[in-house]
Amino acid sequence: MISVSEARAALLQLCSPTEVEQVPLAQANGRVLAQEVRADRDQPPFAASAMDGYAVKRDEVELHAMFQVIGEAAAGHRFDGHLKPGQAVRIFTGAPVPQGADFVVIQEDVDRKKDLITIQNQPSASSNIRPSGGDFRIGQTVTAPRILRPSDVALLAAMNIPDVPVHRRPVVALISTGDELVMPGGTPGPDQIIASNTFGLKAMLDEFGAKVLVLPIARDSEASLKTAFSLAREVDLVVTIGGASVGDHDLVAKVSADLGMERSFYKVAMRPGKPLMAGRMGGIAMVGLPGNPVSAMVCGHIFLQPMVQAMLGMGAEPTQLQSARLTHELGANGPREHYMRARVIAGEITVSDNQDSSLLSVLADANALLVLPPNASRQHQGETLQYLPI
Ligand code: AMP
Ligand code: MG
Repeated sequence: MISVSEARAALLQLCSPTEVEQVPLAQANGRVLAQEVRADRDQPPFAASAMDGYAVKRDEVELHAMFQVIGEAAAGHRFDGHLKPGQAVRIFTGAPVPQGADFVVIQEDVDRKKDLITIQNQPSASSNIRPSGGDFRIGQTVTAPRILRPSDVALLAAMNIPDVPVHRRPVVALISTGDELVMPGGTPGPDQIIASNTFGLKAMLDEFGAKVLVLPIARDSEASLKTAFSLAREVDLVVTIGGASVGDHDLVAKVSADLGMERSFYKVAMRPGKPLMAGRMGGIAMVGLPGNPVSAMVCGHIFLQPMVQAMLGMGAEPTQLQSARLTHELGANGPREHYMRARVIAGEITVSDNQDSSLLSVLADANALLVLPPNASRQHQGETLQYLPI
């Protein structure tokens, strides 16, 4: 059995970045920037007023100084003339500062009578002018890879980049297996349950940035599973759920081998999630997840997230663990890395009483997976342990 980190490394070997596609800026949020982009202009493109007031010459500014207002500059409409001594231009936020002016007296500091203004309060030291190129200059870059957030989208827009090069979302096919499964909203027979982690995994993969195809449930027959695999051709990753153990009805290993899967590994020293398998089938990465709902979801966090990240061109960053203080005693661990459902509140972590890997209600209550390394000794209250936020 291999360790979690060995499994992760082997899974990353199965992944390569998807190709680059251009998406309109309006669809770029959450996507991964694939190539460096450059501003094609300075922002602001001219020295601009930061306030509503009067543009004047700084060395004429003093209490009680008077100016003659000779025109107006508004956002989108510059004043064309050149300021001479003793003159001022009425100016509004975002307007180009007229030639000859280098200071904006805010309107609150001015008393106006017809075309004459008098400075009636001591103006601030600030010129109230945003310098040309003060935000960014032409040629300034945003480097890749980078997950684009709303603030990045705003920056790219300001840089006048209408189409953004991003990695194509990897397509992941999800195949649930089992005679006992019915889709949510269906009518389960007396011995049936609802396919649940299928939808949990879809939600998770959506969040990771993948595009998910939920294929029809494969029944526990070789023919049915083969049909399901045949539907998963134009994808980057096939994920099966269930049927991965060694029971009589666990057919994923056999059928995938028949279909030519080159196996990378089978079984990982972790809890929950031991019967995990992976490999490559005709150029497509394949992961067989255990069926137990919590096992499948935990494996999604631990393994599918880094795989999707790698396919999105973000490399193989190690899983970002955080730490918190344990609120109680915790027994020693066995030989498998244990991902325990837990709740973290204000830096303190409390492990859920029941760690059965079929309990989705416990998982939904948890906001963390406490990571207990293989053979960890007994832990005491107050000790600092690592966890994965979920
Ligand atoms: P298996 O790995 O097929 O033996 O499944 C282990 C357990 O997980 C069984 O109790 C299955 O009923 C359950 N299970 C398998 N797949 C799913 C699924 N997609 N949704 C909910 N439970 C599942
Ligand atoms: Mg099954």
